[in-house]
Amino acid sequence: MRILVTGGAGFIGSHLCERLLNEGHDVICLDNFFTGSKDNIIHLMDNHRFELVRHDITQPILLEVDRIYNLACPASPIHYQYNPVKTTKTSVMGTINMLGLAKRVKARILQASTSEVYGDPQIHPQTEEYWGNVNPIGIRSCYDEGKRVAETLMMDYYRQNNVDIRIIRIFNTYGPRMAENDGRVVSNFILQALRNQDITVYGDGSQTRSFCYVSDLVEGMIRMMENDQGFIGPVNLGNPGEFTMLELAEKVIEQTGCSSKIIFAELPQDDPKQRQPDISLARQWLGWEPAVQLDEGLNMAIAYFRKNAAV
Ligand code: NAD
Ligand code: UDP
Repeated sequence: MRILVTGGAGFIGSHLCERLLNEGHDVICLDNFFTGSKDNIIHLMDNHRFELVRHDITQPILLEVDRIYNLACPASPIHYQYNPVKTTKTSVMGTINMLGLAKRVKARILQASTSEVYGDPQIHPQTEEYWGNVNPIGIRSCYDEGKRVAETLMMDYYRQNNVDIRIIRIFNTYGPRMAENDGRVVSNFILQALRNQDITVYGDGSQTRSFCYVSDLVEGMIRMMENDQGFIGPVNLGNPGEFTMLELAEKVIEQTGCSSKIIFAELPQDDPKQRQPDISLARQWLGWEPAVQLDEGLNMAIAYFRKNAAV
């Protein structure tokens, strides 16, 4: 198949492009390089089935493809809050453009949604039926509400135009090629540890997250895209192993063998207190569950940053 990956030069997108090429597909990677980089895909460039298009999905584009993975959107709080209006435009206008493309060429389209649609959840663990608890006017809203509208658009193009859609809700994912400067907790802690700097835990560190290794996520994405049982989602994709940020900091200190100390910094506004996916639907419909647990995944991520980052 010919497969379009928007945001293909980003962290998750680059792993997805690589996997799709390995499966024998033609891959068009579309990216505006806001948070992605050519370094992430440089190793794919001499594959004749790989094409790179510099483009911004807020603008329409004409392509002929069979599948669209719509990942283009900054994902870390620092990056999506840098230009919040642009973040909303990317999710809303970008998704409209990709849905229009899917409709025109009858491609199947998968939207990379997020656990952030649940906001600061009052149901735990989060199931797909939960409608969420999102602040519509806070500093995270450009991302959360943008992604919620993107889900609405997907469902309406499905109901109104019969577009073949899939929706996944991705929970915190980590691994090689996370941007060094994106401020997400796993990369921050590992880089701080490798530099023997203090580890910055925000708030009292009792907030929880559930971390999924990137190869597991990519497997789930492809299974969701290719399932032909009429299951369009939304489906949670994440690792149900739940950890406090203090536990994560302690694991990183232990695994890197660093001499860093933990320090506490201000908790960002609207920071969700807990997050854990219920993955019953993914298990049932996709036969999917994560294979890499946190200790093993952290080891691989630490090895990557040790080799590739300025530490
Ligand atoms: P990332 O920032 O590494 O990748 C996003 C990519 O999209 C980058 O390459 C960026 O340059 C590109 N991009 C941004 N705006 C664009 C635009 N207007 N036009 C074209 N390209 C644009 O982030 P990631 O972690 O790889 O996330 C990929 C997708 O997965 C995002 O949609 C994100 O919301 C979603 N997601 C990620 C996580 C996670 O934990 N990593 C969790 C939930 C959802
Ligand atoms: N966090 C932290 N120290 C850091 C970066 C993040 O304690 O250096 C916390 C952050 O407040 C949040 C959690 O780690 O509670 C996950 O943050 P991240 O930005 O990785 O993802 P998100 O909040 O979007 O889940």
